[in-house]
Amino acid sequence: MTTILSPELIASFIDIVGSGNALSGPAEIAPYLVESRGLYHGTTPLVLRPGSVEEVSRIMCLASQTRTAIVPQGGNTGHVAGQIPREGKADMVLSLERLNRIRDVDPVGNVIVADAGCILADIQKAADDNGRLFPLSLGSEGSARIGGNLSTNAGGTAVLAYGSMRQLCLGLEVVLPTGEIWDGLRRLKKDNTGYDLRDLFIGAEGTLGVITGAVLKLFPKPLGHQVAFAGLKSVEDALALFDRASSLCGSALTGFELIPRIGIEFTTRHIPGVRDPMPTVHSWYALIDISTLDSAESAERMIQGLLETGVSDGLVENAVIATNETQRKAMWHMRESMSPAQKPEGGSIKHDVSVPVSSIPAFMAEADAAVMRAIPGARICAFGHMGDGNIHYNISQPVGADKQAFLDRWREMNGIVHGIVLKHLGSISAEHGIGQLKRDELAEIRPAIEIELMQRIKHALDPAGIMNPDKVLHSRSM
Ligand SMILES: Cc1cc2nc3c(=O)[nH]c(=O)nc-3n(C[C@H](O)[C@H](O)[C@H](O)COP(=O)(O)OP(=O)(O)OC[C@H]3O[C@@H](n4cnc5c(N)ncnc54)[C@H](O)[C@@H]3O)c2cc1C
Repeated sequence: MTTILSPELIASFIDIVGSGNALSGPAEIAPYLVESRGLYHGTTPLVLRPGSVEEVSRIMCLASQTRTAIVPQGGNTGHVAGQIPREGKADMVLSLERLNRIRDVDPVGNVIVADAGCILADIQKAADDNGRLFPLSLGSEGSARIGGNLSTNAGGTAVLAYGSMRQLCLGLEVVLPTGEIWDGLRRLKKDNTGYDLRDLFIGAEGTLGVITGAVLKLFPKPLGHQVAFAGLKSVEDALALFDRASSLCGSALTGFELIPRIGIEFTTRHIPGVRDPMPTVHSWYALIDISTLDSAESAERMIQGLLETGVSDGLVENAVIATNETQRKAMWHMRESMSPAQKPEGGSIKHDVSVPVSSIPAFMAEADAAVMRAIPGARICAFGHMGDGNIHYNISQPVGADKQAFLDRWREMNGIVHGIVLKHLGSISAEHGIGQLKRDELAEIRPAIEIELMQRIKHALDPAGIMNPDKVLHSRSM
């Protein structure tokens, strides 16, 4: 693998995109070299911003001939540093930001075809403008791009009803590490013709090819939408309420988020405009989101029925139903502010884990006990998509503790929490992927045969090892 690029090679890459779209000045490349948490800083000789699929293809062709490493980058919102070039190498960043055209919207066929560089919020808006819903929704939707969402198999707040990106994508267009273009932009729900190549690239974190376009599924827009906050005394009660909500609402249950009291305290303290949604104080909260296709009244009936029975039999301590769109948005804004609200509280050690839904209370009880034994005074802020079994098990430093000394225990705490996750047959990365952050751990926890199969697939598609090397898997060709 090339570690120093000659001026001639750099000039050839610049020629492909034009000098205005090849960035190399320290100030202009700086935003591409660090991820939002500031944990990883990379280096690059050049950020390339191609404006067409053909330019991406020419870049990859030259990269494979010259064994130049390429790191695809979308909105740079990923949490595991898959989009950040390695430090001290000559990885070239390939930003998809100029590939941002919506190619087609077909409301009857319920599909949208878009460039991979389209911002998620723009896809949602295009769907809405055509009387349809694109249901992927996440805190980073104003900057994350479709190619990044696909490459991380992003989930978000409505996975319960609609699934993650893997379920929301029908077809892909991919530029392979050789520069060849695979046009798999099919719009079919049923297509049993051989190996599923699409699913190989979804969740591959840019290690197998560059996604340049996608066919995404659209859905009818719900007529009824209700959001409520329920105050609860325990995680066990949250699980019982989730079980009841699933039976009562079926596919109308679009979100069921678990929030601890400390999360309300952090967000009301640090995020301007966020207010405690309830007049009473509770140990735990569930944010419940219901959307119905038939009428506004049916969503209203459902949420009221769920909460009334919950209160009358002692499962729910108190509940508040949002009465208008502003309040609904405020409740979700509170939930989405949980991540940024932890920052001002000092160091935060994160775990993006999933366990079978019914194991959540046992997992939380065991993890809490183990964490408090290891770091007395640690403040556990565990929240997330309870309906998907996905908990962001985050640990804020004890008040007044030394931030760096606390963060130095990141691996140790990962070991403790992930050990309990694995005991419950869970996953150490529910939605953010592996990237650089969890690469070494992946190799330790997955069976050797799985890692070997992944390595063989990687080698078959990327024999020169130029495609986002050392992300997800260790590079064999280095
Ligand atoms: C506030 C906040 C909230 C979030 N909430 C959620 C959430 O609820 N659920 C969730 O799943 N994630 C969430 N995330 C994580 C993040 O937004 C997602 O991982 C997102 O899908 C990444 O998109 P991106 O365009 O920013 O990709 P990037 O960060 O730029 O890249 C992510 C990975 O994809 C690869 N990649 C990017 N584009 C391409 C391409 N075109 N072809 C091939 N590979 C590519 C990169 O190399 C990298 O490995 C959140 C992040 C933030 C900051």
